[in-house]
Amino acid sequence: MLQHALRTVRDGLLGLAYPEECRVCGGAVESWDDGVACAACWNDANVTRLIHSSVCAKCGVPTSRTLGGAQPSRPKAGSRLCGMCSALPFAAARACGVYSGALEVSILFLKVNPHICSRLRLLIARTFSEHREALASEVVVPVPLHRLREKQRGFNQAAIVASAISRKFNLQLDDHSLVRTKATERHRAGLDATDRAKSVEQAFTVSEPRLIAGTSVLLVDDVYTTGSTICAAARSLLEAGARQVNVLTIARVG
Ligand SMILES: [Zn+2]
Ligand SMILES: [Zn+2]
Repeated sequence: MLQHALRTVRDGLLGLAYPEECRVCGGAVESWDDGVACAACWNDANVTRLIHSSVCAKCGVPTSRTLGGAQPSRPKAGSRLCGMCSALPFAAARACGVYSGALEVSILFLKVNPHICSRLRLLIARTFSEHREALASEVVVPVPLHRLREKQRGFNQAAIVASAISRKFNLQLDDHSLVRTKATERHRAGLDATDRAKSVEQAFTVSEPRLIAGTSVLLVDDVYTTGSTICAAARSLLEAGARQVNVLTIARVG
């Protein structure tokens, strides 16, 4: 009976939201589990590139690129620092892969549809497992939207990701203590990194510091772009007494 009901819901969703064409290559998406990209696009190396390649132990940028050297054979993930991130407030940041292809279209889809396909859910879980030591946290906190923006959109896409991680790894979810007080545009065109950093300065506050004080927080967002939003949120959490802040995003730009 329940199964029948679930199938009906799923088929209804299929009819409403399931695309027939991969939003990356136009090929056929053959499984509901793959969401808006086809299996071939999910198998592209960029999608999982940051899980196993050599990344900066702190900020998660691929170190082979920043150091200019060739990819070493069988690099140990997180074994070295890029040398550019010492001022960043978080302890460690990781992402599944590069913001392109299947990850990009899935993130764009997530901004209008509060749904993460199984393929992406597994990928996020794999990334967290692989970097669990670096990302060790007790509380999962999504980067909040301003309440007006959230009302407009109907949900916060970062909270969907945070809730998936919290359920999968049995970590406490806190999606209300960190609050966005400024309705700044996240991706306003024409803003360079400095302007963007200024526009999110003091954009966050912690409404209930007692829930955050002394804890290691896993701060979750859909995409790490310049890092200014995530750093502003991390600073707020640290000012509220968080022991440390780690960051997990689905993708990072560059
Ligand atoms: Zn495709
Ligand atoms: Zn770094």
